[in-house]
Amino acid sequence: MNFVTSRYLAFSEPFDDQKGKLKRILFSTRTSATVLIDDSAIQKILDNNYTDFDDELLDLLFSMEIIIPENENEFEEIMIQNNSLLDVNSHLDLTIQPTANCQLGCHYCAQEHSKNNMNNDVYARTLERVTSKLESKKFKNLSVTWYGGEPLNALSQLKKISTEIIELCKINNVEYDGSIITNGLSLKPNIFKDLYLNHNVLHYQITLDGTAEHHDKRRITKKGEHTFNIIFKNIIDIINLDCYQEKVKEPILIRTNIDKTNLNSIKDLVDLFAENDAQGKIQFSFAPIVDWGDKKYGTIDGFTKRDFADIEIDLLLYAHQKGFLIDTSLVPKREFMPCMVVAKDSEVFDAFGNVYPCYEFTYTPAYNEDKHKIGNLLDKNFIPNDLATTRNWYNDIRKEDFANCNKCELLPVCGGGCVKNWYNDETGCPSFKFNISDRLLIDYLNKNQALTI
Ligand code: SF4
Ligand code: SF4
Repeated sequence: MNFVTSRYLAFSEPFDDQKGKLKRILFSTRTSATVLIDDSAIQKILDNNYTDFDDELLDLLFSMEIIIPENENEFEEIMIQNNSLLDVNSHLDLTIQPTANCQLGCHYCAQEHSKNNMNNDVYARTLERVTSKLESKKFKNLSVTWYGGEPLNALSQLKKISTEIIELCKINNVEYDGSIITNGLSLKPNIFKDLYLNHNVLHYQITLDGTAEHHDKRRITKKGEHTFNIIFKNIIDIINLDCYQEKVKEPILIRTNIDKTNLNSIKDLVDLFAENDAQGKIQFSFAPIVDWGDKKYGTIDGFTKRDFADIEIDLLLYAHQKGFLIDTSLVPKREFMPCMVVAKDSEVFDAFGNVYPCYEFTYTPAYNEDKHKIGNLLDKNFIPNDLATTRNWYNDIRKEDFANCNKCELLPVCGGGCVKNWYNDETGCPSFKFNISDRLLIDYLNKNQALTI
């Protein structure tokens, strides 16, 4: 059999291994495996020139799928693997938005809020839809993300439907866990305890856009009131709960939405959490502000994806230096789907009965048209629209319009990123597209406990 080098490779920059040899980290995105290799060997691999390699090295490169059979169509192989996993996917992801309301009026949010919580009809139809999925016996696990608006504005609806779903999971022998994306304003310790202990809401994401000075210029209430001190106190009170220290396996994720106007405040926020002994109890996610629906604040004040990739690395290193865990997914894993939009059973339910493939479509005027919806549960003739925007990504990706992805060396570990962006003629790439070289190096240094800044 003849072999060639895979197209699905990425590298770190060369570095001195302190024994006088130049090395690089070579990353096979097909297997998500990394190997430390002589810099001189990289060019040979890229030239399909393996004559100097001994059998042991060849076996290793073959097992990592860095070299592959000559006649293999790699893109097709990846798509076959992805699609076959979708067919047998036993993990169901649902997003439930029990309210269209939110106290905050963040300028970059494209949602149109209204004081509507799920009414009895929508509640009943949503539960019916979840029931039919669970009774299909296709699923071993169900993960529900509670989202909004602000989901805690409809806490009683959330708890009621959560109780019913947990019971349904028990009856159908399905493992259940919940996540919540919340602005944190109402997340008092007693509510956290109730959600964690009684509703299996195990994963929490709360947004703080810097310290009070910057956060309170953007994440203010609709009446213009400041929110930082309340949210920060809630988080500190929660992470100091006995039950948090004893039971919580995944620290609260603090998301920061960053543009040119608040970047300088992000390290101060890390410092503030460090001063409050939050190391090990929270983790950070640094995200760029991007265009969303009709709101073009990513274009106005945001960074390019390439510039943000450098900013992200700088912030990750800073957080690490301050004693916070660096996200363990520095080196991306093999991904069989980019996100929930390609999983045919995964759906987003809003407070009006609308069903969408993507949670950034709800309450967002730019996505009001029916072509973006799977349907509406109040429609007596509800027939799911399998061609709702993004739903057919694994066919669309073959088109010339999406050549960025179908030709990308990172496809096996990405799947297309935030695919809704590609349909809007925007880039959907995650930051690792632009900083994978640094990530490989930091991950290597991290594992070898040699991280110096
Ligand atoms: S397409 Fe983007 S916004 Fe929509 S669910 Fe996927 S990652 Fe989220
Ligand atoms: S989203 Fe970007 S990184 Fe991901 S496969 Fe497409 S082009 Fe590559």
